[in-house]
Amino acid sequence: MQLILATSNPHKKTEIKAIFAATLPHIEIITLSEILNPFEIEENGISFEQNATIKAKAVYDALLLARGEGEYLVLSEDSGLCVDALGGAPGIYSARFSLIEFGDNSWQERQARLANLSLDARNLARVVYELQARNLSVSRARFVANVCLMGHLGGGLIHRNFQGVCEGEVITTPQGDGGFGYDPIFVPDGYAQTLAQIESKNEISHRRRALEECGEYLRSLV
Ligand code: IMP
Repeated sequence: MQLILATSNPHKKTEIKAIFAATLPHIEIITLSEILNPFEIEENGISFEQNATIKAKAVYDALLLARGEGEYLVLSEDSGLCVDALGGAPGIYSARFSLIEFGDNSWQERQARLANLSLDARNLARVVYELQARNLSVSRARFVANVCLMGHLGGGLIHRNFQGVCEGEVITTPQGDGGFGYDPIFVPDGYAQTLAQIESKNEISHRRRALEECGEYLRSLV
């Protein structure tokens, strides 16, 4: 059986492949870009679960057209950071938090001065900015990942979602250069360092937790 990863995020691809390599050695994992040209998917859901499902369905529909039914499943993932002091933001808008309207929008002026930074770096800067605007240097927060599996196997449609959470705190002083996205400001519970400083991030991440459940289900299929 093939597992087709519906993500273009290189960090996520590496994490997912590393996590499954040990536990699902008999499943061939390939990425969508190896078999189809990339196309835009409008993620207009209102939850991580809905967005993961929208991505899986769009990719599975495209694969059905290109290849027909077969011994393959699509795996998509939607994830983000939810900060309590910001009412759960950036949440499903994590990938573009620096670009959306939020709070009093005084951020817009600051954002113009950060134009040379990557989108990830500007998103992180906005979380820090919004916390500081509330006179906070720390807040409870969590990373959430939702993994969706979709496809036809053995004559039946498979559609399953798996959720994983990593609880911790966000801080306003970024530390470390590993990982990606908001890792430099997220300190998971039980650690004194940020995810960007923790080498074993893949063992405790929200994605790891969702993928472990997903892996257990996949093992029951093959
Ligand atoms: P998605 O690709 O639409 O699911 O967006 C996920 C966004 O959430 C990423 O662009 C990151 O900003 C953030 N994110 C998700 N997982 C992680 C993680 O493990 N570390 C840091 N940031 C993450």
